[in-house]
Amino acid sequence: MKTIKELISESLTEVEASRDILKQQNIRRVYKAYPELKEIDDQILNDRNNRFIAVIDKDERLIRRIDIAIEELIAKRDKIIARNNIDPEFDVAKCICDKCEDTGFTKGSDGTLKVCSCRKKELETCYELSGMADYSSYKMKNYRDDYLGDPSGRKKIKNDLLKVLLGLANSEDKSSLFVYSGAPQTGKTFLTVCVCKTAINLGKSAYYGKCEDLQIIGTDTLEALKRIDFLVLDDFADSVTMTGNVGSILNNILEVRAASKLPTILVTPFPKAELVSKCDMRISGKLSSAGLISKESR
Ligand SMILES: [Zn+2]
Repeated sequence: MKTIKELISESLTEVEASRDILKQQNIRRVYKAYPELKEIDDQILNDRNNRFIAVIDKDERLIRRIDIAIEELIAKRDKIIARNNIDPEFDVAKCICDKCEDTGFTKGSDGTLKVCSCRKKELETCYELSGMADYSSYKMKNYRDDYLGDPSGRKKIKNDLLKVLLGLANSEDKSSLFVYSGAPQTGKTFLTVCVCKTAINLGKSAYYGKCEDLQIIGTDTLEALKRIDFLVLDDFADSVTMTGNVGSILNNILEVRAASKLPTILVTPFPKAELVSKCDMRISGKLSSAGLISKESR
């Protein structure tokens, strides 16, 4: 499971290559239009090579002569560039994206990092690798607070989830585990997928998955789930914790994450109290101290 930071850093070699191609194209274009410029640049290059040899030979007189020649050539070169309005940096590699200067991240006015719009491809790949391949159309901007006629409740849940993601939310005894409980068909999956995508957009490592799928996820991913910045497990229910080895896998993940205070959200249609009384014992112990996200919670 690759994080967005890893994906962007892997693509830097590709960006560097395109920067170099653009530079070479630019140089060829300028030299074609102004062959006298190419001639001077060739001479300068030649003189610099000769100077290198003169330095090794410790031939001070020759060095001085070459220095004067280079100086004259540069003055001539500057004149041609100025007279023809040529970009003086035509032979320097330039950033492909001015917004992020090819780093892949831009800084918001509040100082937070965000993935730059030039890295849409890496972002989509990361969503897919982070459990969200089936939700490519889910976007936060399409989440409507007033859907189902409960604008304040829906807005509150959205903000609570974002607070958990940003580390601004604390359950009563500072547990990093949260239960998001809401009636069926109220858009919980849509919202949590969008929050998970927001996490990745902010440069964090995150994963969205169904609770029961913990038993079919590969061991590499399971190991990653213990350490990523933000984890959402959907369709959480007491019966799921009793299915196969889901209970022990989940318990293990939650224990490692709690030790590093990494936020985890369990999404469920059931009330928290009911889950606490019916779940696998190891899980219910953790649930009782978990924070609650719901329309009613304060
Ligand atoms: Zn950019």
